Amino acid sequence: MGELSKIGVIGAGQMGAGIAEVCAAAGYDVVIYDVDADATEAALARVRSNFERNVAKQRMSEAERDAAIGRITAASDLKDLADADMVIEAAVEREDVKVEIYAKLRGLLKSEAILASNTSSLSITRLAAASDRPGRFIGVHFMNPVPVMRLVEIVRGIQTEEETFQAAKGLIEKLDKSIAVAEDFPAFIVNRILMPMINEACYTLYEGVGTVETIDSAMRLGANHPMGPFELADFIGLDTCLSIMRVLYDELADSKYRPCPLLGKYVEAGWLGRKTGRGFYDYSGEAPQPTR
Ligand code: NAD
Repeated sequence: MGELSKIGVIGAGQMGAGIAEVCAAAGYDVVIYDVDADATEAALARVRSNFERNVAKQRMSEAERDAAIGRITAASDLKDLADADMVIEAAVEREDVKVEIYAKLRGLLKSEAILASNTSSLSITRLAAASDRPGRFIGVHFMNPVPVMRLVEIVRGIQTEEETFQAAKGLIEKLDKSIAVAEDFPAFIVNRILMPMINEACYTLYEGVGTVETIDSAMRLGANHPMGPFELADFIGLDTCLSIMRVLYDELADSKYRPCPLLGKYVEAGWLGRKTGRGFYDYSGEAPQPTR
C-alpha cells in the first residue's frame, strides 16, 4: 500500500468539516461530499474561518492558509471521490445511511483504497461487512472539535488487515494526534464511559434532582470537568448522544444503558443542541439560556 495523498470525506457536518480541515492543514488533498450541498458550503466556510483565526494567532502563515484552502475541493457527487486513497465517512450516526453510502461506493473507489468510518458507536465489523472491502475497512474515531482534540480512537473490525491498520495509524500520526486502539465493542472506549454519564445527567434532570444549570455547575466545580454534561451533550449533538445510547442498550443488552426518555423528547422536538440553536440550552440570545 503506497503513501496516502488524497483523502475523501463523506458528510460535511461538524465532524466531516473538522476532518477535512486537519487533513488539508497536514498537506493532504481533500475532497468533501455531503448529500446536502448547503452543508458542504457551510463546512468550507467554517474551515476558511478557522484558518483565518490560525493566521491571526500566528499558528499558520498566509501562504500556508492559501495552500491548505487550495487543497480542499467540494464534491457534488460521490463519483468525485473515485481517485481518493482513503475515504473517511462521517455521515450522520445511522447505520442505514452508512450502509447505503457503502453500497453506492461499491466498485467506485480504487481497489486499494481504504474506507474508514468515524462512527461513534456502531460495529466496525458489521459496517465493514456491508462494504466491498472488509479487509480495507477500519474505524477512525475523531473527537469533536477535530482541530482541537488530541485523541483519535482506531478500531479494527475482525476483517481489518494489518496494512489497513498501519495506513490509518500513519495518517493519524501525520495529523499529529494521539491514538487509542480500541476493540470493536459498542461505543469503543471514550463514548462507552462518557455517554452513560451524559444519559445519567439527563435522568438526574428528568427526576428533578437538579436543573440544567445546577447539574452542569455541580459537575464543573465538583468533578473538575471543563464542561458540564449538558453543555457537552449540546456540543456533541443530542441525536448523536441518543443514537449511541441506543446502540449500547441494544447491543450490550443491559438495562443500565436505557436511554433517558427526556433525551428522546428533545430529539423528537428537533432540539439537537448547538447545531440547531437549541438543546438543553437555547442559543438564540447572547448567552446560552437553560431550557429547564
Ligand atoms: P452532523 O449532524 O453535524 O453531520 C452529519 C452530516 O451527514 C450532515 O451534514 C448530513 O447532511 C450528512 N449526511 C446525511 N446523509 C448523508 C449521505 N447519505 N451522504 C452524505 N452525507 C450525508 O453530525 P456529526 O456530529 O458531524 O457526526 C458525523 C459522524 O461522526 C457520526 O457517525 C457521529 O457519530 C460521528 N462523531 C460525532 C462526534 C460528535 O461529537 N458530534 C464525535 C465523534 C464522532
